[in-house]
Amino acid sequence: MPQNPHADPPADPGDSGFLRQFGRSEETTEFHSPIPEGYEGGRHKYVAILGTVMSGLGKGIFSSSLAKLLKDKGLSVAPIKMEGYLNIDSGTLNPYRHGEVFVLADGTECDMDLVTYERMLDQDLDRSNFVTSGQIYADILRLEREGGFLGQDVQMIPHVTGQVKLLLRKLAMSGGPGGGPADVVFIEVGGTVGDYENSFYIEALRELAFEEGVQSTCFVALTYIIEPAILGEQKSKAAQLGIKRLMGAGIQPHIIACRAHRPVTTTVIQKIAMYSNVPIKRVFSMHDRESIYTVPEAMWAEGLDREILSILDLYDRVDPVHEERARHRWSGFAERIRAARRHRITIGITGKYTAVRDAYASIERAIEHAATHLSADVDVKWLDTSDVDASNVADRIGQGLHAVIVPGGFGERGFEGKIRCVECVRTRGIPYLGICLGFQAAVIEYARNILGLTGANSTEFDADCEHPVIAELPEQKKIEGLGGTMRLGARDVLLEPDTLAAFLFAPDRSMTIRQRFRHRWEAEPAYVEQLSAAGLRFSGRHPEQPIMQILELDKKVHPYFVASQFHPEMTSRPLRPHPMFMGLVAAAIVRANPDAGRKPVGSDLARWLRPAGASPAPEPQIRITNTTGTTGTTTPA
Ligand code: GLN
Repeated sequence: MPQNPHADPPADPGDSGFLRQFGRSEETTEFHSPIPEGYEGGRHKYVAILGTVMSGLGKGIFSSSLAKLLKDKGLSVAPIKMEGYLNIDSGTLNPYRHGEVFVLADGTECDMDLVTYERMLDQDLDRSNFVTSGQIYADILRLEREGGFLGQDVQMIPHVTGQVKLLLRKLAMSGGPGGGPADVVFIEVGGTVGDYENSFYIEALRELAFEEGVQSTCFVALTYIIEPAILGEQKSKAAQLGIKRLMGAGIQPHIIACRAHRPVTTTVIQKIAMYSNVPIKRVFSMHDRESIYTVPEAMWAEGLDREILSILDLYDRVDPVHEERARHRWSGFAERIRAARRHRITIGITGKYTAVRDAYASIERAIEHAATHLSADVDVKWLDTSDVDASNVADRIGQGLHAVIVPGGFGERGFEGKIRCVECVRTRGIPYLGICLGFQAAVIEYARNILGLTGANSTEFDADCEHPVIAELPEQKKIEGLGGTMRLGARDVLLEPDTLAAFLFAPDRSMTIRQRFRHRWEAEPAYVEQLSAAGLRFSGRHPEQPIMQILELDKKVHPYFVASQFHPEMTSRPLRPHPMFMGLVAAAIVRANPDAGRKPVGSDLARWLRPAGASPAPEPQIRITNTTGTTGTTTPA
């Protein structure tokens, strides 16, 4: 006779009943580890980077540099940042607290960490490369409501951990460049081992390594070696305790990377090796370097990449010719970083978050990329525009600045001051790069001061202004299908021939470029014809819709005045600096030293200086068939 699984367990003589109350077991299995269809065991490898002792050690820089070394060897890599926080994305995070909000090509808003990977790997990422606890819980709760767990009690283990493993395996299958498979997935876990919010990630990684088998997963503990000033020597105890904590979670690290101010001493390395079961050759000193871009070379010199290849049995996937070429290109850039600079310039950036520089980190990086290529030493001056007015603008920016950037922003504070700054740089011929809000400020300034429309403004700041030259267009909202949210992610921009934009972007004459956007307001089409006729040239626009995306002034009236509705800083890469920043830095070099422009030293500078008279006088390019602004159309030139 079949046994009734729900029957009480047989009573134990002398049993008080204490054990019996737990005796009814209804579950069929405690194992939940969904594997994506077509997943090939052994095809993909995993490197997990976990922080101990404290956060803020540069896990992202470490992980992206290591991933770069493997990518340079011809392997395909896919990074992922696993965040502990509950926000679904970074769109609503305050840049004061969290640094800038960055947008990926698919429109995902994320924080700066992912950008480090895009820059180091020169690889576009998307939403699959970033996950928060909030996203994972939301998925699990949705699945539960949809009946996806068939009456089981849904738990952190195995369901939440199962979801994490599923995400990682999916990424392995399609997270490589161009959506192909990844040889190696680099997993950066946010926070520090021991934090409540990331402990389920750590458990999921332990399970993943177990399921995938030997030589599948490499655990790297990134730790910190303290050097208290009162002692004047490095101490390893905090690092040891942090690593022990990781081992307590069931993870034996394969590699230990020691962040430190100065090179880690042999004694400390020996101690750490001894107490954490890691051979000395796999304990690395990752002390401070002059630039994050020299980290890959340092890792290579120490053999960190080769240890990873051994641990994961990857030697036969390496392409030495590819590696040689990639290393050569990168070391050329690293050499330029270290080399003495030929030029010295000062760039002013108007910033609402002047107190928190991270809010504009990508702009600083983009300047750094361009300046490295053009051998310029750049002094960045932050300008709080909240008290800038007609009486002090010349003092604030007219003196000593060789270029000005008005970056993106939201909210009214300091906006009038920014418009004053634009006026000042426009009338004084100071090189200008306007980004997003900086584009809008340039339109408003031109409308007010050249067209005489004193009531010109953005409806973001004055909903009832007399001349809404920057407006939120209901028509566009329909086109973009985003219903009131922002226009986010990569979009095409069609360039106008014979313009500064075409000079910068299209030496090869391909007139469509793809750039990243994050905005809600834009130039109102009803004013475009008037502005164009008065000399504000819209040299880049949406291929089909009346959305202005780049503006500029003619070379005859200004050496370098350009602004974009998109964010050029988001796609600047060390080896492929953004053309608008190259143009800005080149123009600033000439502003600082006109001789440099007469005899450009080296071909790099010459490439970015537009020859005088290369552009014809501006003509209106956009024909608006309806001036209400709601049904405006363009006729492409
Ligand atoms: N606040 C402006 C808009 O939404 C500019 C946005 C930005 O600079 N990123 O259009």
